[in-house]
Amino acid sequence: MNLILFGPPAAGKGTQAKRLVERRRMVQLSTGDMLRAEIASGSELGQRVSSIIQHGHLVPDGIVIRLIEDRLPGLAGTGGAIFDGFPRTVAQAKALDAMLKHAGKKIDQVIRLSVNDEELKARVAGRFAESGRPDDNPESFAVRLSAYNRDTAPLIPYYEAQGKLRNVDGMASIDVVADQIDELLEKV
Ligand code: AMP
Repeated sequence: MNLILFGPPAAGKGTQAKRLVERRRMVQLSTGDMLRAEIASGSELGQRVSSIIQHGHLVPDGIVIRLIEDRLPGLAGTGGAIFDGFPRTVAQAKALDAMLKHAGKKIDQVIRLSVNDEELKARVAGRFAESGRPDDNPESFAVRLSAYNRDTAPLIPYYEAQGKLRNVDGMASIDVVADQIDELLEKV
């Protein structure tokens, strides 16, 4: 089963993805984690994207599509993929559909975690000190939220039209959100 965890930054996608990895032998594919690893390694790609990420902007589609494409063969023999933070644009979603189709696979479900802006800002303000993520500062986070609203929210009607979108109240506690996700996955 291949799943997209969808939602604004700080909605809890990474937290829920990690729980699914433990429980279902699924593989978390987080483009944010991959890009941070590139930056940490000092690679040419990392140097290219570092300032874009720090300021909260989206990295060009071609870069993240390539990162995902490289990892699809590694899914063989696993419980499937949890796409976390990808796709973030309609162009990325179309590329993902095409790559999966080519491999004889598909997205089975898109789970949208809904959290209001006030709560998102409060969460990020709380985690800024601990996370050490330069893009968790208030200015960059505002840019990330507007990128979500402008470029990523159009994926809601895209996946609704495919009949794959399911909504979960991301304001609930981590355990309650996890239970709701489990319930949805049982029905796939
Ligand atoms: P995340 O950890 O998912 O919040 O991603 C952190 C940052 O990495 C984002 O704010 C973007 O700058 C970049 N990024 C991660 N995934 C993508 C993506 N699918 N498309 C474009 N930029 C991305």
